[in-house]
Amino acid sequence: MTTTGSPRPFWLAGREATGESTVEVTSPWDGSAVGSVGVPTAAQTEEAVAAAAAVADAFAATPAHVRAAALDLVCRRVGERADEIARLISAENGKPMKWARLEVARCVSVFRWAADEARRFNGGIAQRLDADAGGTGRLALTRRVPYGPVLGIAPFNFPLNLCAHKVAPALAAGVPIILKPAPATPLSGLLLGDLLAETDLPAGAWSVLPVPNDAMPALVQDERLPIISFTGSVPVGWSIRDAVPRKRVTLELGGNGAAIVLADYASDADLDWAAQRIATFSNYQAGQSCISVQRVIADDAVYDRLVPRLIAAVEALVTGDPSDEATDVGPLINEDAARRVESWVDEATEAGAKVLTGGAREGASYVPTVLEGVPTDAKVATEEVFGPVMALTRVSGEEAAYAAANASRFGLQAGLFTRDVHAAFRAHRALEVGGVVVGDVPSYRADQMPYGGAKQSGVGREGVRFAMEDYTYERVMVLTGL
Ligand code: NAD
Repeated sequence: MTTTGSPRPFWLAGREATGESTVEVTSPWDGSAVGSVGVPTAAQTEEAVAAAAAVADAFAATPAHVRAAALDLVCRRVGERADEIARLISAENGKPMKWARLEVARCVSVFRWAADEARRFNGGIAQRLDADAGGTGRLALTRRVPYGPVLGIAPFNFPLNLCAHKVAPALAAGVPIILKPAPATPLSGLLLGDLLAETDLPAGAWSVLPVPNDAMPALVQDERLPIISFTGSVPVGWSIRDAVPRKRVTLELGGNGAAIVLADYASDADLDWAAQRIATFSNYQAGQSCISVQRVIADDAVYDRLVPRLIAAVEALVTGDPSDEATDVGPLINEDAARRVESWVDEATEAGAKVLTGGAREGASYVPTVLEGVPTDAKVATEEVFGPVMALTRVSGEEAAYAAANASRFGLQAGLFTRDVHAAFRAHRALEVGGVVVGDVPSYRADQMPYGGAKQSGVGREGVRFAMEDYTYERVMVLTGL
């Protein structure tokens, strides 16, 4: 693990480098020093971009087995170093160990899928051309061609795996990448660089650069990086897209995810399960997940039996020191974030909302909180709280439930608790989101499914294969005279 002392180098075109300044990484839990990281100068950033552009054609031509072997190696090394990596994630992000371990396991899976996809990702034979008279004797086939190097920008809340979601598909597709980890949590992304350095991928194919925010607009504008894959907040994401409308920009942004409990989900066992899942995934990582449960929309028929179960499940969560294996809920990323959550809850209660449990802050920690009767225009209803807070809404009937869920400018994923398959299909059609999870909370993501948002929650899709498609285009060849 990184310790304080000399700054941790960053990765510039496959080699370690230190800049002229450093940034300190501190524990969100107790403010202790976790490490310090070198910050690249403008000249070093330029060098990394130039190296990525220079290697792009050669890297695209690398045999698939070479890229797959490199990804397999990273996959293995993440697994072998899982404990150490989880401790690093927990230290710099304040995430409880149980969630840090899960993040590492997810990262193993990302690299495994990427290695598999590297082996099979290809163009193909286009639809038969001789279905039209002009196509008689012709055949069209395609190959996938990278647009060019990608700029991958990651947020703080999954400091390892959201970096992996950028890096693994790029390397699988033969696309060089400049990875920019979040300022609060650069160490996990840099550790990923340590593992990439063990591979024999070409030097310019990857860099991990903790570029300061004020230097990002210039990097975003750089013509040599035609693809931007951004995961982070809504305003920053859309400002990037506005700044470079001609680039291919994928945005994985925020949301205020809904969990809907329909009237048929009514047995004791069903309600116990729904309450357990909602309580856990409203508060995991202190609510700092784009697909955590923020809004709970329950049918009148089950509401009064669900709520006491929810309160009990929330109050049973163990809060405290993230390095303790028993902890469920740790601090937010910093005290400012916790103060913001506090002020939003205060705003809601002043406007009439009732706190059923929680509603208190200590330093960077906020107590898991359940609110009822939240006015529809309060920030905890309309914005992304990104904290351990859920707002309960009572509705009558399916249509009202879907309307309540859709009353949001965001649309990432929704969870639907029902045993009625017809209702599941109706919800799948009605809900304005990138994904509907039936029988569970919205907080499920797998690397082999398309993942992303509707409305202001984003544009484009991740999931290893879908990101590879985003980073490349199909170039057709038509053979004539066959
Ligand atoms: P953020 O937008 O503040 O920062 C994200 C990244 O953008 C960081 O690396 C930051 O340094 C960089 N950045 C800041 N200003 C920039 C600029 N002008 N140009 C380019 N890059 C810039 O987000 P955050 O607070 O780190 O992360 C939390 C947000 O991320 C939440 O909104 C959350 O919902 C979202 N998120 C979305 C997903 C998803 O897959 N949809 C996953 C995780 C997190």
